[in-house]
Amino acid sequence: MTKRPNIIFIMSDDHAAQAISCYGHGLNETPNLDRIAQGGMRHDATYVTNSICTPSRAAILTGTYNHTNCVTTLDTHIDNRMPNVAKTLRAGGYRTAIFGKWHLGETAGHTPTGFDEWSIVPGQGDYWDPAFISPEGRKRIPGYATDIITDLSIDFMERSIASDPDQPFFLMCHHKAPHRNWQYHPRYKHLWADKDVPLPATFHDDYRNRAAAAAAAKMRIKEDMLYEDIALVQPEGGADVAGEMMVDPWPMRKIPELMPGETITVICSETGTNYTFDDPAEFAAFKFQRYMKRYFRTIAAIDDGVGKMLDWLEDKGLAEDTIVIYTSDQGFFLGEHGWFDKRFMYRESHQMPFLVRYPRAIAAGSTSADIACNVDFAPTFLDYAGLQMPNYMQGRSLRGVWEEKTPDDWEQVAYHRYWMHNDIIHNAWAHYGVRDDRYLLIYWYNDDLGQIGARPNDAPPEWELFDTQVDPNELNNVAADPAYAGVFRDMLAKLDRRMALIGDIPEHDSAVVLAGLAA
Ligand code: CA
Repeated sequence: MTKRPNIIFIMSDDHAAQAISCYGHGLNETPNLDRIAQGGMRHDATYVTNSICTPSRAAILTGTYNHTNCVTTLDTHIDNRMPNVAKTLRAGGYRTAIFGKWHLGETAGHTPTGFDEWSIVPGQGDYWDPAFISPEGRKRIPGYATDIITDLSIDFMERSIASDPDQPFFLMCHHKAPHRNWQYHPRYKHLWADKDVPLPATFHDDYRNRAAAAAAAKMRIKEDMLYEDIALVQPEGGADVAGEMMVDPWPMRKIPELMPGETITVICSETGTNYTFDDPAEFAAFKFQRYMKRYFRTIAAIDDGVGKMLDWLEDKGLAEDTIVIYTSDQGFFLGEHGWFDKRFMYRESHQMPFLVRYPRAIAAGSTSADIACNVDFAPTFLDYAGLQMPNYMQGRSLRGVWEEKTPDDWEQVAYHRYWMHNDIIHNAWAHYGVRDDRYLLIYWYNDDLGQIGARPNDAPPEWELFDTQVDPNELNNVAADPAYAGVFRDMLAKLDRRMALIGDIPEHDSAVVLAGLAA
């Protein structure tokens, strides 16, 4: 009889698929993450239900959508009395642990439940000498967060097999990296020192032919990065020293966009070097390069940590009997559309990288483009553990997809919903929608909560439809194009069906929308 597999779920924070070399974007090198794909499957269509940290983590843990688990925003923490996959695995005989980023609340009622061991960083956590909270209290561990989280994970596995080699374990290794601000370990300083990262084709996107949300978002590399994000400081003094475009210092000081005729001086924190710019394009490219290089160097530590864990499994002879997953809580923009950050349903942010290795069941070097969601992870773990999926879960087991036996009735639909929450920093508007294997339908609606940074309530709601086969960069909204009226109807039906199935409340009225189409 095949042993029940150990399950190692390694998740980083804000790691885009574009920044994993096996996805073929030709940017950075991640040889150890690629080892998972080479020995298993690279999944190309795993999507997040809500493209921000906290809700994604709740969906993964509970196998439910965010209107169901009530973790809709960064500020709505999980109720830890709720059932979750760790509780079910633990009750089913697994030894369970979580180390690293939790971000679901650390006060009473919100800390991890269902875990034999847990040690989490408060909030976003720190890169250096981070504090950890565990059942024993709070303590600061000296060192670099990614290395510490890797070591805590390996230590747990060591003790787990020492105490009972026959008891399978479920380990959630949650890296804080590579979340902003991108503080890399100096051992990676040499990476990208002598070369530049190519600018993405859509870096200078002007947001034409789209709903107003894209232009309104404050996630642009040119004007919305913080000094601390890319380790810059401004010279002491006012606008006459730092440049004309001084930005309101609340809540955090952004590096201004340089306008024609202006000059700006910035100082690199790590070297003390002064740079003065008078060319707006050059200054934007300078910010992009610093962002990307720091991001890739931060990822290099994760890649090495994953390599260490894979080596450990091989040394112990556990590789065959262990499911190893590498993913991120959502995707990220690496300069596409001129953005950093996430939040939107556009591809770079909507897609989660997803690599899985389990030699006993998953073919080495396989790939899949069947649509999966983060709510599907928990049911899949239970399926491989031989445990029944509890009836509260809303996902579906991915076992057939991973083993290249996708059921014929597998619905190729991913639902996403982003709720507004007083977010003046990013100004990302509320929306929901569905993506299938070709089209993306998004509805931008007005929430009447009067929150800061919300979509103006007098603005009419907007639909966006993208045909990703002819428009892979999602630049041209065809929602009002008569040639796509049939597609629009089909996607609207998919949206309505999914919302009804999971019990989410629509803001649109399809009868009205369809009547408008016919007119
Ligand atoms: Ca995140």
